[in-house]
Amino acid sequence: MQKKYVPLLLFFAALLVFAAHIGTRFVLSEPAFSLACAEEKRVYLTFDDGPSTIVTNRILDILQKEKIRATFFIVSDRVNGREETLNRIAAEGHTLGVHSATHNYREIYASDEALLADAEACAAVIRNVTGVMPRVYRFPGGGGKDAARQTALLQENGYRVVRWNAVCGDAEIAGATADVLFDTSVQTSRGKQPVILLLHDSATHLATAEALPRIIGYFRGQGYAFCAY
Ligand SMILES: [Zn+2]
Repeated sequence: MQKKYVPLLLFFAALLVFAAHIGTRFVLSEPAFSLACAEEKRVYLTFDDGPSTIVTNRILDILQKEKIRATFFIVSDRVNGREETLNRIAAEGHTLGVHSATHNYREIYASDEALLADAEACAAVIRNVTGVMPRVYRFPGGGGKDAARQTALLQENGYRVVRWNAVCGDAEIAGATADVLFDTSVQTSRGKQPVILLLHDSATHLATAEALPRIIGYFRGQGYAFCAY
């Protein structure tokens, strides 16, 4: 080989290495199934009040099997001893959001400062445990009379506030069975675009995990893309 081609060869070799690197990063950070989230018909499965040991992991098993991403709004006082579960949520490509440090309405809604301090305390735990900087927020209990002003405040502090427009009923209907949770998900999501479905993964919500495969099956059958924030 002539000597003058050596730099050219090196250049193409470097280009190949670079392309392979970009390719790997693209695959890791942008799972193929999220591309459908540019479409109109999409559903956001959002889980509040975790992590819990059994229910959260059961839900993660189902999401992993179904290759679906979801959003988990965390109560950081429940993280202690469940760091592994919190890390699993992040490692499997789901979004970690801020819900609250304490979930104590009286404390959280005492003032704007208290609300913000509660959000920041929760965000700090998520950041310290997982290294993820959470950027989405959900009001505990859906927010009070000052929700509009407090939404603006949270936005100023870098959070996107995510509400919901459909429920599975696991917080609204006492003792709801998996059948009831499935029916409620179907009924309340009708006509919503996109569907933002509220579910819970705290320790008492085994029925939610039980209903989840059917809920997923329903939205999949209706042609929805499953998306996370
Ligand atoms: Zn909650």
